[in-house]
Amino acid sequence: MEKKPFVTLEQIQEIVKTYPTPFHIYDEKGIRENARKLKQAFAWNKGFREYFAVKATPNPYLMEILKEEGIGSDCSSYSELLLSDAVGLKGHDIMFSSNVTPDEDFVKAAELGAIINFDDLSLIDHYAKLAPFQDTMCCRYNPGGEFTLQNEIMDTPKDAKYGMTKEQLFEAFAKLKAYGVKNFGIHAFLASNTVALGYYPKLAGILFELAVEISRKLDVHISFINLSGGVGVAYRPDQEPNDILAIGEAVHRVYDEILVPAGMDDVAIYTELGRFMLAPYGHLIAKVLHQKHIWKDYAGLDACAANLMRPAMYGAYHHITVLGKEDAPCDHKYDVTGGLCENNDKFAIDRMLPLIENGDYVAIHDTGAHGFSMGYNYNAKLRSAELLLQEDGSVKQIRRAETPQDYFATLDYPGLKDKK
Ligand SMILES: *Cc1c(COP(=O)(O)O)cnc(C)c1O
Repeated sequence: MEKKPFVTLEQIQEIVKTYPTPFHIYDEKGIRENARKLKQAFAWNKGFREYFAVKATPNPYLMEILKEEGIGSDCSSYSELLLSDAVGLKGHDIMFSSNVTPDEDFVKAAELGAIINFDDLSLIDHYAKLAPFQDTMCCRYNPGGEFTLQNEIMDTPKDAKYGMTKEQLFEAFAKLKAYGVKNFGIHAFLASNTVALGYYPKLAGILFELAVEISRKLDVHISFINLSGGVGVAYRPDQEPNDILAIGEAVHRVYDEILVPAGMDDVAIYTELGRFMLAPYGHLIAKVLHQKHIWKDYAGLDACAANLMRPAMYGAYHHITVLGKEDAPCDHKYDVTGGLCENNDKFAIDRMLPLIENGDYVAIHDTGAHGFSMGYNYNAKLRSAELLLQEDGSVKQIRRAETPQDYFATLDYPGLKDKK
């Protein structure tokens, strides 16, 4: 599918008068439309709820938009819990799916009344010393082995640090029951960034069967199944984006096959999507500062891997549009780089693009999730601003760019105090 940016060169030329590049910009209209489609896809399930994975894009203004669409938050750390609290998410609006969890995180999650998802059996007795159990608690499952779809290996749970074995899960539920817990959730995350209709239905089948077995053997009430994240986006133009309506319908069929005949037709489906909710609705906008032509042709941007780590970290593909040259032939080959002293600081390698000139603006696609949030300060590079393109076309700054003083904020060193 052709990948078109949601902003034009004219819009960016206007925006940079107030907010210089680089910045991440998010498309409110796209975010809301997608959130509504997800809700529609699971409308058949009366308890359905999406818990946005805050780690993907921890910005309260975006969380607020999602909250208006009925979406809660999935937190993995103390500060993410604080963000959720600040946007007014309360109690069961929050899912706490952490691992290697510090005590203070558990205590904060309990204080907010969040649904706590235990990553390990050993954490249950540990938690008992920290905070009271609530009526509803959740456990994370790791089936081991390889996770395959149509004979293709999607991921290898046996090598993943998350979740409990089946035996441990049974023991965990028995323990929680003894602690007085009334309602139980089962959670698993078995493959990341899937662009295949089959992932959620296959995962749902595994968890639904497990739910039936647990509820029979231990006589406990399973109130929800959390399918977690993993529904991906089409980063590449040759990929077909996920059809969430078809995915919802396929999960519905598995639900009717397994849970309904077992008399468990009150089980709610939860999701914890991050990437799917926001990735396509964010661009990293940057300006071409310098080019060089040595053994290869390089276009150097004012953004770098500190603003978007995925290409450097995973070799991930992010589509790039040279704004204003959407219809020009892609007949030049570039490495598109940032300015870090790291040769992996490349947004694209051997990418065919239109002829680039210094001063051109580029939109790097699909940076709305796991983009800004994975940013870092290597080379003393500063984090960029985040902007929101609102539904009426106006732009709101939802996080300002860092200044050197932000970078020095944790240093108590006199000579740095007023440096600009
Ligand atoms: C990262 C994560 C998610 C979100 O994953 P996406 O691939 O962004 O959908 C959901 N749940 C948990 C526990 C996670 O760690």
